[in-house]
Amino acid sequence: MPLFGRKKPEVPTSVAPTWAPLPEPPEVDDRGLRSMVAHRDYLLSCVEELPPFGQNILDALDLAICEDVISAIDMPRFDNSAMDGYAVRAEDVASASAATPVSLPVVGEVAAGQSAPHRLSPGTAMKIMTGAPVPASADAIVPYENTDRSPTDVRIVAPSAEGQHIRRVGEDIRAGDQLFAAGDQLGPRDIGVLAGLGRDKVLVRPRPRVVVIATGSELVDPGLELTTDEQIYDSNSFMLAAAAREAGAQVFRIGHVGDDPEQVKQLIADQLVRADLVLTSGGVSQGDYDIVKAVMPEMGACDFAAVAMQPGKPQGFGLIGEDRTPMIMLPGNPVSAFVSFEAFVRPVIRKLMGSRPYVRRQVSCRAGQAIRSQPGRMQFARGLVTESADGSRQVVLAGGHGSHLLGDLARANALLLLPPEVDQVAEGDNVDVWLLDEIA
Ligand code: AMP
Ligand code: MG
Repeated sequence: MPLFGRKKPEVPTSVAPTWAPLPEPPEVDDRGLRSMVAHRDYLLSCVEELPPFGQNILDALDLAICEDVISAIDMPRFDNSAMDGYAVRAEDVASASAATPVSLPVVGEVAAGQSAPHRLSPGTAMKIMTGAPVPASADAIVPYENTDRSPTDVRIVAPSAEGQHIRRVGEDIRAGDQLFAAGDQLGPRDIGVLAGLGRDKVLVRPRPRVVVIATGSELVDPGLELTTDEQIYDSNSFMLAAAAREAGAQVFRIGHVGDDPEQVKQLIADQLVRADLVLTSGGVSQGDYDIVKAVMPEMGACDFAAVAMQPGKPQGFGLIGEDRTPMIMLPGNPVSAFVSFEAFVRPVIRKLMGSRPYVRRQVSCRAGQAIRSQPGRMQFARGLVTESADGSRQVVLAGGHGSHLLGDLARANALLLLPPEVDQVAEGDNVDVWLLDEIA
């Protein structure tokens, strides 16, 4: 029931939020531009590796291990046979040949998973299967191929030297050996060796949860009809979501939101709970409707920079909300968004995962044509790299410079890195590229 006559308490309506500031940003040059590498290093310095957790070994594939794994057991665990055949004493078969076979009585049998029934007496043989423990006092295995396979009295037509076809205890891994160091990324063979050592769980860093949002009132989801001449399909949220997944993240593609400040704020606030990183495209340039840049400082500590690169000059970064969730705000042109992903987002995802190296390796290629570049910034051109029979690589341009040329980007398989001091690459000169189909 309303309380008539009572004055509502004064609620302060707009308390300016105070955020702990970001670390001191890198210096800019006399044009006010920050270098690409300085910006990347800055973002990397602002994010921390995710805390490790115990994971089933199969689910740890591609993740970075966070413990030094020391083997608790020898591998092999015991001397065992490498062949199906007969366990013997080498000296008993030393003279065996096709012309002068040696016959030995077969005194028992041992298969993988069984223990040898007794010691091997001199002048006898015991049937043995691959992986079965070698009976005491046997010191060689004669494979079936060099015998008549008799179950009672075996004829042996070739010698086996001492130790032949015996897999020795600990010859692969010794108890106490260190197999992995914190930071190693686990591949299928590593998962195999962990299982072989009896480990079912391992401490790794998780896949970062990356929320991907495109901004722009012109955007429409693929699959729907474009109803006005001004609409376009949202390609960025799909491309960035795919790129983040390929980089190892667990991705939540939210889709797109219009250039409306309240909607953008609400959507990001809703998503923060499940994000280790928020990724947006659009709305960070100088336009009147570049609302990401306008509203995000209300939600956290932000840094908007002009980076000396082309495409990808306008860049935004923030630590958003109470948990200071990292957010990278990319420009909206699809090629700019992609190049920025490669330059900044992939390294950040890899740092969150603890996967070194954070930055893609640069590969040197021979320029198959003369290439002009605008000096003063890192120019990223799209390229097609081919490999000659001798393994040397050559690169030519794939399409033009425009940051809207998504078709050219899809056709390319490399990004050329043309550094600020370069204005011209002659045919035959070396040029550095990122090979985009290499997943690292
Ligand atoms: P903005 O950075 O928001 O000014 O966008 C720059 C250009 O990229 C504009 O032409 C946008 O229409 C286009 N663009 C922005 N977001 C997307 C997107 N998600 N998919 C495709 N094109 C986009
Ligand atoms: Mg826009």
